[in-house]
Amino acid sequence: MIEIVSANRCIECDICVKVCPADVFDRTDGIPVIARQDDCQTCYLCEIYCPTDALYVAEQADGPTGISEAEVQDRGLFGIYARALGWKRGKPAGSQFDPTHRIRVAQV
Ligand code: SF4
Ligand code: SF4
Repeated sequence: MIEIVSANRCIECDICVKVCPADVFDRTDGIPVIARQDDCQTCYLCEIYCPTDALYVAEQADGPTGISEAEVQDRGLFGIYARALGWKRGKPAGSQFDPTHRIRVAQV
């Protein structure tokens, strides 16, 4: 379930608002807010698409875990699912050279 939108990392691009299939986020004049957390499907799309690793989606789908942003930061959990899929630089086996990430830009 979506847990955190980091104000320190977010660049207010609203990509997460656009890609979320469950309309969990609301736009604001600043960073998006988690307006309907209970509707989250734990699909990780927002985390994968976020260009700055500003979102954290916990694997627990039954309800909020109450994890803090500080703990997510300290444990290196921001963007961890996306990195595991090879969407970010630093992934071994050359995935950083995979051009298919450009599909993301075309889709939003
Ligand atoms: S995990 Fe999926 S359903 Fe939940 S907020 Fe992100 S995009 Fe929306
Ligand atoms: S996709 Fe990431 S950077 Fe863009 S608005 Fe959402 S949380 Fe902020």
